Amino acid sequence: MEDLKEPKRKRNAQPWKKSKLISKDEEAIPDIEDIFSDKETQKIRESLLDWYDHHQRDLPWRRKQTNPLQVEEEEEKEKRAYGVWVSEVMLQQTRVQTVIDYYNRWMLKWPTLQHLALSSLEEVNEMWAGLGYYRRARFLLEGARMIVTKGDGFPNTVSSLRKVPGIGDYTAGAIASIAFKEVVPVVDGNVIRVLARLKAISANPKDSMTIKNFWKLATQLVDPCCPGDFNQSLMELGATVCTPSNPSCTLCPISSQCRALSISKQDKSVLVTDYPTKVVKVKQRREISAVCVVEILGTKGPIEGDQSDSGFLLVKRPDNGLLAGLWEFPTVNMSQEADLTTRKKEIDHFLKKVFRLDPQKTCSMVLREHIGEFVHIFSHIRLKVYVELLVIHLKGGMSEFFSKHKNEGPSWKYVEKKDLSNLGLTSGVRKVYTMVEKFKQSKLSTDSAPAKKKRTNMRKLRSTGVN
Ligand code: SF4
Repeated sequence: MEDLKEPKRKRNAQPWKKSKLISKDEEAIPDIEDIFSDKETQKIRESLLDWYDHHQRDLPWRRKQTNPLQVEEEEEKEKRAYGVWVSEVMLQQTRVQTVIDYYNRWMLKWPTLQHLALSSLEEVNEMWAGLGYYRRARFLLEGARMIVTKGDGFPNTVSSLRKVPGIGDYTAGAIASIAFKEVVPVVDGNVIRVLARLKAISANPKDSMTIKNFWKLATQLVDPCCPGDFNQSLMELGATVCTPSNPSCTLCPISSQCRALSISKQDKSVLVTDYPTKVVKVKQRREISAVCVVEILGTKGPIEGDQSDSGFLLVKRPDNGLLAGLWEFPTVNMSQEADLTTRKKEIDHFLKKVFRLDPQKTCSMVLREHIGEFVHIFSHIRLKVYVELLVIHLKGGMSEFFSKHKNEGPSWKYVEKKDLSNLGLTSGVRKVYTMVEKFKQSKLSTDSAPAKKKRTNMRKLRSTGVN
């Protein structure tokens, strides 16, 4: 199947008329300085659309697929809407270059909304692993199921899209304007930056009234003939030319309308990057957790040293809250900083409660060691993670171990070492696992203990799967 760029749009041959979108109420923006004149609006539309025709990046979600089976136009629009939806959700908080690969893999696995609706949360989370903000993936799945169950086709207006879980004003505007050509604006961080500079708006861009005014300005600007392309051009300009700290004003198609640029030329103490006003970030909450990577040896037989013959215990996080429903190594949240002994005690308590694992009774310990710590940053949390490796042999074997644990406490699973890397793991869990691997490697290569002790350590570590 050949990918084609969208055909060139038809330009409006009519002289520009005031958009019917702006209601009387909306027209009554108090500060006249913040309104674009009719002439300005027309010029900005033309310049941006022209620029977008020639400079847009070739991104997979912008490509139009050929239609060998002459699929109905409606079906084509729905496919486009689905692609826009997936890409816009992925692009929230994630760089374009990272998203491209995820998007392509996603579309290969679930090419239509119907395919996605049939998948499980587990599969979706696996596909999403590494993108972060997993709630977004869950909402995509829930939204797809809702639309398919309803059976009315893909919602094609902002108001109907807003009823779908996880679709806010921005995503609704993007889908409605790009896939269904509804004349509605979109406002994201890129658009806010461009508009704030165009109009030299110094109000707090996080303030709800200011955001409302950005929506009004964007509503005024959106092109009635090509709303989707216009919205994308504004976002594209913000992403590639009017960047946060290094805007390329000499390449900008709307520089003659830019008030920030004009002010900065008259007053050298003012920079275009002074707009929009920088807002002090909310302080992140500090949290601490202790992670214990439990590796079980000899689960298939008694042969020590067989690499395939070991595995790890993973626990499912609660269905609500941070990283809801995702898998992690056994983890205990600490209420405050604690020394190794206290952390071990808490971990032991957790392992006993969830797995009935007791180094004294149910298993024999091969190795237990604190292997390091790191800080993992979420948007609102600064999580300090202490990592410990616990390598054990089960006294009664795996079958006895599993028979004891049915429908009790949090969900958990045993994953063979060879399967762990194929599992979609969050970046935090991957960090922990990489740490474990590095620890084993360095333990082997730098151990300067006397020969006998060294041989013992080597044997122990080999049995955990290190060559
Ligand atoms: S002239 Fe410069 S600051 Fe103004 S919109 Fe263009 S790139 Fe942004």
